[in-house]
Amino acid sequence: MSQEKLPPIYLDNNSTTAVHPKVTSYITHILSECFGNPSSQHIFGWQAKEVIEIAREEIATLLGTSSSCIVFTSGATEANNILLQGFADKSLSIDSENVPHFIATQIEHSSVLQPIFNLERKKKCTYTLLPNNEEGLIDLSKTRSILDAITQKPLLFSIQHGNNEIGSLQPLHDLLPLATEKGAFFHSDITQIIGKIPFSFKETPIDAVSLSGHKFHGPKGIGVLAFRNDESIKKIAPLYSGGAQESGLRPGTISTHLIGGIGEASKMSREQFDHNKALIEDLTISLYTSLKALIPTIRLLGPSFESGWRLPGNINILIPEISGAKLCSELSTTIAMSTSSACLTQAGKFSHVLTAIGLSEQDALSVVRMGISHMNSLKEIEFAASKIVEKIIKIRGT
Ligand code: PMP
Repeated sequence: MSQEKLPPIYLDNNSTTAVHPKVTSYITHILSECFGNPSSQHIFGWQAKEVIEIAREEIATLLGTSSSCIVFTSGATEANNILLQGFADKSLSIDSENVPHFIATQIEHSSVLQPIFNLERKKKCTYTLLPNNEEGLIDLSKTRSILDAITQKPLLFSIQHGNNEIGSLQPLHDLLPLATEKGAFFHSDITQIIGKIPFSFKETPIDAVSLSGHKFHGPKGIGVLAFRNDESIKKIAPLYSGGAQESGLRPGTISTHLIGGIGEASKMSREQFDHNKALIEDLTISLYTSLKALIPTIRLLGPSFESGWRLPGNINILIPEISGAKLCSELSTTIAMSTSSACLTQAGKFSHVLTAIGLSEQDALSVVRMGISHMNSLKEIEFAASKIVEKIIKIRGT
């Protein structure tokens, strides 16, 4: 995507991101030059294995763990499923009398919530969803008293770091001591924060994280389930069988080009972190300020930009008297935005995140989400702001 090309302008980066040209050219190189099976014991296999080990090392460096703790998956959805189901299976294989108890937030991604609901239906777990305030942040003192009342063991926390709809960032650092006190396993879905909020197991020593390559300018169909150490991996039973790849947790011939692609995207996000984050923040503030100046009635959903608890690049606004679907649809060939998360709009369901922050169904119909990336330019943002305002005024006048 050329930075200065206008329009159409891509502002749906919480849904997915454009593959960076450097990633594309590396993937193309791998596809033509490194096609061997990485498990094969000959030069073709070794070339593919080398690509994979470089990428594995790169992701391990990004997350502050060792390369043996990186499990490549097809994305964050699969990583979350492997983790949650695998924890339940392992716990029950050790002690079939004690069903594990899961603790998550009400606003987790559906790839965390649905596996939990499914496991509970099969009587493989019980769960508690922590309440959040109207900005989508969990309340630590309420959490503490909820935890005090929970006596079940084993316990698993699965708390997302950044929310894909309203951008709230949960206080993993503050939650970790509470989880540790209870002897809980701690997992976080960090899919939205890569390249925007630093995360390292060294500073935040939780047990495991999930992420997806296409959210930070890598390819689709590749993700990571990463662990802090080998002890954490042992707490998860494999869901699949038939191969020893990826510590046995994700068997099957691994995809050299996709792994190379996520490795390259990860390297770029690490090396250009400060520059990209500052750019994303500037562009985000510029877009929001322009919109708010001309349409003062818009309301930002989720934490404020100044709070320090908002995911950089995420704007989610309620525009009174406007149908979010109509605005997005009328601008769909000019500016790509969304009414809520792409996963939910496909399923045609009402957003559980907007419900959890107390929005009425009526208000939720007026919500629009924009996601800004470092691959956007100021010119694009200025153009987008003027087009969005123009369209809102036009819709209101009709
Ligand atoms: N978790 C979060 C927070 C996400 O935003 C997404 C993607 N919308 C996922 C998990 C799932 O990622 P994928 O579709 O790549 O598996």
